[in-house]
Amino acid sequence: MPVVMPASDPPSPPQNGRAHSASSTWDPAAFEAPDYYDLDALLPAEATAIRDEVRTFVTEEVVSVVEGHAQKATFPDHLIPAFADLGLLGPTLPAQYGGGGHSNLVYGLMMQEVERGDSALRSFCSVTGSLVMYPIWQYGTEAQKERWLPQLAQGEAVGCFGLTEPEVGSNPAQMQTRARRDGDDWVLSGHKRWSTNATIADVAVIWAKDEDDVVRGFLVETDRDGVSTPPIDDTWSLRAAVTSEVVLDDVRVPDAHRLPGVEGLKGPLSCLTQARYGICWGTVGAAMACYDAARQHARNRSQFGKPIGGFQLVQERLVEMVQAITKAQLLNWRLGTLKDEDAMRPQQVSLAKRNNCEMALEVARSARQVLGGNGVTSQYPVMRHMANLESVVTYEGTHEIHTLVVGEDVTGENAFT
Ligand code: FAD
Repeated sequence: MPVVMPASDPPSPPQNGRAHSASSTWDPAAFEAPDYYDLDALLPAEATAIRDEVRTFVTEEVVSVVEGHAQKATFPDHLIPAFADLGLLGPTLPAQYGGGGHSNLVYGLMMQEVERGDSALRSFCSVTGSLVMYPIWQYGTEAQKERWLPQLAQGEAVGCFGLTEPEVGSNPAQMQTRARRDGDDWVLSGHKRWSTNATIADVAVIWAKDEDDVVRGFLVETDRDGVSTPPIDDTWSLRAAVTSEVVLDDVRVPDAHRLPGVEGLKGPLSCLTQARYGICWGTVGAAMACYDAARQHARNRSQFGKPIGGFQLVQERLVEMVQAITKAQLLNWRLGTLKDEDAMRPQQVSLAKRNNCEMALEVARSARQVLGGNGVTSQYPVMRHMANLESVVTYEGTHEIHTLVVGEDVTGENAFT
């Protein structure tokens, strides 16, 4: 079939150098956030103001470039200074260390808006704030905090988190990475896999077992002898992120690089609770983007002499989407309120992570159907979000693992083994 050039430029050029076969019915600037139950009325004005600032940034600066980066599998690192200026890197940490001192509701709303652009960019912010800055702030020495937190908040340093290994994913208790004490130093050896940011990171938070099998955290500069961070570059998902291995070949670090405030798996698991909380919100953003693209298309695309939004079966899809998003928004609002009251339990995060990832995937798949054939092109954000969400549903605890967490909580029975 000949390629028919569009009559006018599409509103959001995918920047992948390819011609379009039709004019897009999606205008990112026409985004209307679903708020079916007026949840805005429950949010402080300061929170909605910050959210709207991030929303505008994502619409104007992110959506226009992220499709091209995903196509080329490149990370848009030029956005890092803007992430820092908007306070997206460590938003809840105290201002003393460069954080924003914001509430968890604000943190959640920020992640929602960033992931409306792309899950890869929310992953960058989550890893920085929740998996790198959080453990340094919570378990680090004053010297470690002063060394790393302001730089990470400013985007002048990049961090990564190494827990998963080639043979060890859902059960980190089986980790094989070792830390051997040698005088005033530790010698780390092992192999971490699926470490977001690692290839571009300055510092890695590495979790390793000592000679007594106690899990400990270490801050490892990535330019130390024995550290290599090869990228994993064959993924179909989170293509605008940097995802890597971390190979530790007898890496020597001083004891001053150990995180002294925590021992055991509760160290990495507590970081995951922070990051999973951000995922609960972020996935709603991805779902909102997919729903909005489908809603716009349903109003602009005609078949059989009328807009497809006038057909009952298309309406049912849109109603299911807005219903699922509304329930997830309510879940997040309550989760954030509990977290701000210091009353949130990790199991409650598991339930929301499980629900919201699955919800967003279902919304993305249904939105793709509403878009018809055009839905598989890069003129629309939906396939990109759908592919990204396949990682998001897996990382930070798979759907099954969160089922087992909540299952144990409601029955008192451990079904992991
Ligand atoms: P496995 O644990 O091997 O699981 C495979 C399947 O078996 C899954 O369906 C799982 O649910 C199921 N399964 C396992 N155990 C059970 C059970 N008891 N009952 C029922 N089903 C079970 N890790 C980091 O440390 N740092 C990062 O920055 C990071 N970023 C990532 C980025 C991406 C893009 C991806 C894909 C992953 C990332 N991860 C990261 C790793 C991620 O957390 C793991 O992939 C995840 O924990 C699952 O581990 P696994 O892939 O080894 O799967």
